[in-house]
Formats: sequence, structure tokens, C-alpha cells
Amino acid sequence: MRDNLLDYIKTIPKKEHHIHLDGSVFPYILSQITDKKTQKYIESLYIKDINQSIDSLANFLKPFQEINKLLQTSESLYILSYELVRYFKEQNIVEVDVRFNPHLHILNWLTYEEILEAVWTGFQDWQKNYNFDTNIWLILGADRELPENEVYSIFLKYIEAILKVRSKYHNLKISWFDLNCNEAWISASPMKHELALRMVQDRWFNIIIHAGEVINDNVLKRYWTLDPSLYVKQAVILWSKRIWHGILAQYSDEAMSMLKENNVEVEMNLTSNIQTNSINDITQFPFKKYLDFWLKLSINTDNPAISWISLSEEIVRYIRELNIDLEIIEKIIKV
Ligand SMILES: [Zn+2]
Repeated sequence: MRDNLLDYIKTIPKKEHHIHLDGSVFPYILSQITDKKTQKYIESLYIKDINQSIDSLANFLKPFQEINKLLQTSESLYILSYELVRYFKEQNIVEVDVRFNPHLHILNWLTYEEILEAVWTGFQDWQKNYNFDTNIWLILGADRELPENEVYSIFLKYIEAILKVRSKYHNLKISWFDLNCNEAWISASPMKHELALRMVQDRWFNIIIHAGEVINDNVLKRYWTLDPSLYVKQAVILWSKRIWHGILAQYSDEAMSMLKENNVEVEMNLTSNIQTNSINDITQFPFKKYLDFWLKLSINTDNPAISWISLSEEIVRYIRELNIDLEIIEKIIKV
């Protein structure tokens, strides 16, 4: 059974709720959007050992700078999303939320409509051409270290673009807006974007926030209190229906209770958290603790190309390394 576990997990129709578009540029996709030399360089930045931790989230994010240089045309965005569905099919991922920050793809003056159209038609066309149906939703994000008015204006422009693209593609599925950033930075509190989030909510979009991934020493000092779960609590206060990472909630019963009472899904990313050094070792990963607390959970890869891991391989780690029963895992991953 054990040797066949990976094959078995692959066959299960699964969901993936936390996958970054620019963190999913697998080598087979890279080869289609750049030359051999650049491909080799970018691949050298990928982490080929799942247990390798690099010294910080900031260093983990380095490959994105190179990848984003390539994703400045409609053509490359289309190829990326088109080819990514091949991976979804291979992994039998039948429900997936793909997130990205359109504001990072405008260096060559692409408009938000052009960006959304390229990504959406890429996803649709592969499914049509290869007769595979997967339920894809887009999540549009913004870096929350940007000033309040800038995030507000970015979100407003996203909404205008969605309305325009939807008049052409009625099946365009976008219902979530995300705030993300490296929380180790001092300006990482999501609270300053309350107005932008309120505006998004008023227009019937849901909110999802990256929170509780890495400790922010500055916050600990500033508040004179040791509350690593602060951003998780703030995210719940800001109506976030799902939390990305959320591992720091484990240090606060109050934060965990807030997640439970508000039925907030915590989207777990074991390999990513090890690689970014957000946890020192696997024993600090709170999956079991959250299970025992009856939190709503999902298992995700975050950036499968950069972490060099597929969703099925990631799921196997929960069974083999965290010793979670297969039956429990199946309930969490199945659609
Ligand atoms: Zn993420």
C-alpha cells in the first residue's frame, strides 16, 4: 500500500485552494516562454529538496522577480495558464483557486483587462482542447505593503476590469480578493487596508488574507507583547473567510477560537513553510493541533514549481511524516 500511496492520492479528485500563478511556472512551461539560458538560471533558483530550508521568506521570493520579468505579455500569461491545466489534469485537481497579483504584470503597459483575458482564456482553451473539466477560480491580490490609497485604487481597477472581461466571457470566475506580503516587514499589518477591503466587500467579493506565516519581530517589540498570532486575528476582524498559512495562530487559543467561531478555512502549506524557514522543523507545523481544535483546513502547495513538489506529493507528506490517517486526509482533500 505504502509504495502505491502516491499513485492512489493522484487518482483522487482533489482541490487546491492556495496556488500562486507565478509560483507554478514548471520547467515544461518555462521552456515555452524563455530561452534555454534564462530557463536554466531560473530553475537553479528553484528548491529541489523538499526539506531544504533557505534562510528567509525574502530569499524564497527571489525567483519570482525573474519569473515576473517573463510574464509581461498576454502571450506568456496565456501560455502559462494554458499549460498549467496540463498539471491540474495530471494531478486530478478538479477544483482550484489560482491567485496572482495582476499589478505585477503591467511593466509593458498591459491593461488589467488584457491580463485577465489572457489568463482566463488560457485556462479555458486547454480544457476545451483536451476535454478536461476543472473548476477554476481566480483570486486577485495586491501587495499589502503598498500605501492604502494605492491598494484601494488597484482593487477598484481590478473590479472595473472584471466587469469588462465578464461582458465578453460570461463564465469568468473571480470572487476573491487577497492581501499578501512578507510579514517580516514592518508595514505588514492588513488593518491599514480596511477601507479597500470594505469597498471590495460592498461589491460582493470575498476577502482572503495571507496571515500568520512568519514572525514579525518589529510587531512583537512595538506591542510589548508576545503575540505572533496578531495578523491572523486582524485578518479575521477584516472579514477574511480564509487564511493563507495561519500557522502562527497555534500560539494563541484566542486566535484559534476566532478562526473556529467564524468558520475560517486555514490553508496549510507544509513544504513551503519548511522551505521559507517559517517553521524550524516539522514538529512546529500545527496541522494536528488544528485538527484536534476542529478548524476547517485544506492542504496546498503554495508555489509547486518553486518548491519542486506536486500536490499529491505534498499530501503524501501529511500521511507519512505527520502521521495523519489517510481517511482524515481524504475527507480534507476530496472535492
Ligand atoms: Zn501564498
